[in-house]
Amino acid sequence: MVTIAVPLEGDGETRTAISPETVKKYAALGCSVKIQSGAGAHSNIIDDDYAEMGAEIVGSSIEAIKDADIILKVRRPSNDEIGVMKEGAIVAAMLDPYDDQDGLKALAEKGVISFAMELMPRISRAQSMDVLSSQSNLAGYKAVIDAAANFAQAMPMMMTAAGTVPPAKVFVMGAGVAGLQAIATAKRLGAIVTATDVRPAAKEQVASLGGKFIAVENDEFKEAETSGGYAKEMSDDYKREQAELVANHVKTQDIIITTALIPGRPAPQLITGEMVRSMKKGSIIYDMAVERGGNCELSRLGEIVDEVGVYIMGPINIPGALAGNATSLYAKNLFAFLSLMIDKDEGVKIDFEDEIIQGTLISNGGKIVHPMLTGEGDK
Ligand code: NAD
Repeated sequence: MVTIAVPLEGDGETRTAISPETVKKYAALGCSVKIQSGAGAHSNIIDDDYAEMGAEIVGSSIEAIKDADIILKVRRPSNDEIGVMKEGAIVAAMLDPYDDQDGLKALAEKGVISFAMELMPRISRAQSMDVLSSQSNLAGYKAVIDAAANFAQAMPMMMTAAGTVPPAKVFVMGAGVAGLQAIATAKRLGAIVTATDVRPAAKEQVASLGGKFIAVENDEFKEAETSGGYAKEMSDDYKREQAELVANHVKTQDIIITTALIPGRPAPQLITGEMVRSMKKGSIIYDMAVERGGNCELSRLGEIVDEVGVYIMGPINIPGALAGNATSLYAKNLFAFLSLMIDKDEGVKIDFEDEIIQGTLISNGGKIVHPMLTGEGDK
């Protein structure tokens, strides 16, 4: 029987890697599931909810992990957790593969088969496993709600006997999964929404949500999307033209949500201190890229910076603030992925030729094997 372990997350992580619904699904695949007591607490899931679906609740992470064939986590396992894993065990988590290579080496050296869920290829067969999409979608919504809550004015236009309240102007920078959800949310709240991106495909998507697209649309822009659907690092010339366009636009905006990311690189800096100071007092910049270095020069991780009356928010773990939904979607992503390699009759069976497996596999056979980390692939 395949055994699955879900230890508690550390470092203030509120999400967990399993939901009662997926416990039932793993059980239907013939797996036994051990969950450390309290794992679902921040997602409003109590131990009994898991136990009712057939999970065994255990008192410590060691007890859960030591005999497990598969370990499911949100974040990277700690060294203590890795220390008790069986050789050949499978780990699936958001391993943050571009960061701290020593932590990844520890997994490899233990002989663990580890998968980084963030590297899921963007192909239609893998859509149900795409953790970046499921988590960014929630984060894009939450960003607008949090920014609006810190904005000392209304979002929709209101016509009252005492006068008209103008609608808020929201500018979304980066119209990927998070940005598109931010646009949709801001529109629902009644704001006037503009958005920018370097990928031409974003233009139509922004328009379909009722936003106005603003970008430097030159030849470089037409080629700015990789075959994987991500943005490329832009040239210095493009960045200069983009900065000019943005500088003029931000002066008139009330709320800016920044989401711009480039895989494997620091987030592009799109808003300078000077641009911040050109904005109206009380305006909000919500930097969703702060954990990757930030899109705004002045953002600080986990803080709200007051720069002459403009507030720059640098939130940590935004999807974790919606832990109930985030856990439910992440757990489903993991189940969809794991069901590729669990066979009801034959147990664990990994097809190392499958592009989903190849795209996410970090370590196997005692070594780091992902081409992006061994220097054989293009970041
Ligand atoms: P992301 O989180 O890597 O980046 C967020 C956005 O920032 C992207 O749209 C990117 O183009 C943009 N950006 C980067 N540099 C910028 C700059 N200098 N100025 C302005 N914007 C900049 O991206 P994402 O949200 O993961 O989505 C990337 C694309 O992949 C989207 O088109 C999305 O719809 C697509 N996608 C496809 C699938 C699938 O087919 N399975 C799944 C998820 C997402």
